[in-house]
Amino acid sequence: MSAYWSDFVKTLDPYVPGEQPKQTDLIKLNTNESPFAPSPAVLDAIRQATADQLRLYPSPESDRLRAAVARYYDLSEDQVFPGNGSDEVLAHLFLGLFRHQGKQILFPDITYSFYPVYCRLYDIDYQNVALADDFSIRLQDYLALPPETVSAVIFPNPNAPTGMAIGRDEIEQLLIQRPQWVVAVDEAYVDFGAQSCVPLIKKYKNLVVLQTLSKSRSLAGLRVGFAFAQPELLEGLVRVKNSFNSYPVDRLAEAGAIAAFEDQSYFEQTTREIVQTREQLSEAMRALGFTVLPSKANFIFVSHSQYDAAQLLASLRSHAILVRHFRHPRIASFLRVTIGTKKQCETLIKSLSEIV
Ligand code: PMP
Repeated sequence: MSAYWSDFVKTLDPYVPGEQPKQTDLIKLNTNESPFAPSPAVLDAIRQATADQLRLYPSPESDRLRAAVARYYDLSEDQVFPGNGSDEVLAHLFLGLFRHQGKQILFPDITYSFYPVYCRLYDIDYQNVALADDFSIRLQDYLALPPETVSAVIFPNPNAPTGMAIGRDEIEQLLIQRPQWVVAVDEAYVDFGAQSCVPLIKKYKNLVVLQTLSKSRSLAGLRVGFAFAQPELLEGLVRVKNSFNSYPVDRLAEAGAIAAFEDQSYFEQTTREIVQTREQLSEAMRALGFTVLPSKANFIFVSHSQYDAAQLLASLRSHAILVRHFRHPRIASFLRVTIGTKKQCETLIKSLSEIV
């Protein structure tokens, strides 16, 4: 008889991230990183912390970071929960708030593919809610489900990988009409033009907002993300955190993250440039015959009626450009393209005009 683990381990179904190639001369538009370096103030702060603080353990409560972020968003410190990237914060959220026996959590089909992975890993029952025909998230469809069978809803705003956003008013209606549901809004891409729900935290006990420094702050490598909510809700995440790692954010990450929130002008300048480039790239792609979904993120989601997406991806790869393709049947004709620098996007258009 074989040991139990030989089959069990194979049932664990991990997340498959986008490729991080060893080759450095590729134009990397496949994992929604920022094409810009972090603010110079961030690098200074990390250098300083390296010299002064590295021999010391980090603060178990990340007090300085929580205070800085609370000040930035006009929240109180007990409404801020930091972690090593929002993926880790999401793990705490799923473990700490989403495992309600006999009820389901809801999220869109199609969305960030980590959500079903966590559900399967943590044995959480979930139900997918299809996107509308135009690929938008339609919250009326969530409201149409029997409320007593549901414990929580999670969706990104803007959604991934479509890039499409919904308005704060619509989300507020869901918060009002389903006060017994936890409503988690994953705002990984919110800084590129969507409306944030952070101002609603004070008003609604059932709202959790997740954010990350990986996109608009150019710090994917530092691994810092947050959940914002009222303390009664965050308590679930805190209990999970304290059960396996009481030092969530290391000293270098804390120093860099605080400095990132202090350099507002760099943040505004780099996000503005990405938004401008996104609009220019969208127009140029449409001129080449692509359908481009309306994006409020740092990526666009595009398809071409005459060219197969997987083949386009391979052709771009031979031009040293990486983009992302998803196998889900409803979006198999689409490619997700991260917004790079203006120059990288011009190279992309030049290559595409040789391909299509
Ligand atoms: N949420 C969404 C919707 C994302 O696309 C990503 C990035 N892949 C994350 C969360 C996680 O980002 P990070 O762990 O780098 O903060």
